[in-house]
Amino acid sequence: MDLTELYQSVILDHNRRPRNYHKLPAANRVAAGNNPVCGDEVTVYVRVDGDRITDISFQGAGCAISQASTSLMTQRLKGRTIAEAEALFGRFKDIVSSGTADEEDLDLSAFAGVHQFPARIKCATLGWHAALNAIHGEAATATTE
Ligand code: ZN
Repeated sequence: MDLTELYQSVILDHNRRPRNYHKLPAANRVAAGNNPVCGDEVTVYVRVDGDRITDISFQGAGCAISQASTSLMTQRLKGRTIAEAEALFGRFKDIVSSGTADEEDLDLSAFAGVHQFPARIKCATLGWHAALNAIHGEAATATTE
């Protein structure tokens, strides 16, 4: 599949209908993230039970890439263990920094085009940084600076 088309359809879809977009009353971890260069802000709510992310949601404002990647992230991390979440973030970072698509993960690969615009890599990883900070109980605001 054409990566540019994929990029546009996944990002437009998540931006138009963000998934898990709400506060999470049952959350036991919360972290905010902001990317001052672009003006993106996200707050990620996580429910961690043992070593598993049993629920996750977000709210935010900013560019389509930041909001779409955070939306996709919530879908992908729900039900995962913390170790799986870290591995997935590692994969996502590889995709957006190298621009190499992962054939087995087309949704994450939709963001491969971001590598052409280094400033946008911060947009794409903002929500993930916030989520990992939340999971590790680092409540301070994540910043991509
Ligand atoms: Zn942005």
